[in-house]
Amino acid sequence: MSAVSMQVDTPAAQQGQRVIEGYAMGKTLGAGIQGKVKLGVNLQTGQRVALKCMDKNKMGRDRTRQMEMLEREIQAMESLQHPNILNLQHVTMSAQYPRKGTKGTKDVVLLALELAEGGELFDYLMHTGAFGDDIARTYFRQMLSALELCHNNGIYHRDLKPENLLLDANFQLKLADFGLAAVNLEMDTLCHTCVGTKSYMAPEVMARQGYDGAKADLWSAGVVLFIMLAGCPPFQQAAPGDWWYNAVRSNRHDKFWMAHLRSAPDFPKLAQEFLNLIFVADSSQRASIDDLWNHQWMQGRVLQEAELTEVMQEKNREVEARKEAELARAREIGRAHV
Ligand code: AMP
Repeated sequence: MSAVSMQVDTPAAQQGQRVIEGYAMGKTLGAGIQGKVKLGVNLQTGQRVALKCMDKNKMGRDRTRQMEMLEREIQAMESLQHPNILNLQHVTMSAQYPRKGTKGTKDVVLLALELAEGGELFDYLMHTGAFGDDIARTYFRQMLSALELCHNNGIYHRDLKPENLLLDANFQLKLADFGLAAVNLEMDTLCHTCVGTKSYMAPEVMARQGYDGAKADLWSAGVVLFIMLAGCPPFQQAAPGDWWYNAVRSNRHDKFWMAHLRSAPDFPKLAQEFLNLIFVADSSQRASIDDLWNHQWMQGRVLQEAELTEVMQEKNREVEARKEAELARAREIGRAHV
């Protein structure tokens, strides 16, 4: 049955609800460069999902690149099944997206993704500040476990950052957004493309050298861990003009920490030692995933699911309140300018 006929036939559609590929469409969850993400409900199972809809006609001149990104994302997500990697449940390369009212449909690529009810890790760091050692370790271990599977499958994420780390309803971490990933490289092949987000990029990626995708991902994971513990980033960018990076590059981690401890005095000592193994300019000397698993800091306390849910729920209330206040302020400013 086509999406259009489903729109007419299903009880959901009869009640005026928009339906796409068997999913009733709900509120907008967010928007990215590839298009809107909507809440969806599978009409057969009742399961809630995130519907990522990419308008093919809006891809413009960049269409080839965007389709490439999308294919990479699909290929990566289809080959990775892990409790800490966002699950791709359904793909339709050409779906009819019902516009509001009677304005017909538009042609989209549709991805139905596991719903991350807890939102982005970014929002928690932004609105509630740094995490304690135990929460940071719990999330770092989940992230490393997800990365290990990626790397064992020849997939390098290349854009690790708190915006791409989503949380499910129980606040378990889900690695998302594989649009910039390098897929199916032979294990010993180097990556050559300078992609990612500058403040998270490893120095060898910034320098546009051929690089080991696994070691580059670990650098970015280290930046995420630093932010979880300090509430601010470790470098502006890992390039020679950056004071913080220069300290690390010249093996003066003592200077790097002395300066950071002024604004983050509680940064745990063992976590500093752990990060010194990741913030190593020469990627061949940087710790491997195995080295990280075996480090003493990683053996510390980890929160079990129920405990993590409880503490994060509390933070979630604060995030929601702050976002709501921001929205109200923006509306206020909007009204003042009318
Ligand atoms: P993206 O295009 O992947 O960057 O997604 C844009 C926004 O949609 C994100 O910032 C999230 O707020 C939201 N979003 C994306 N994927 C999901 C998901 N699986 N569950 C819930 N919200 C999502």
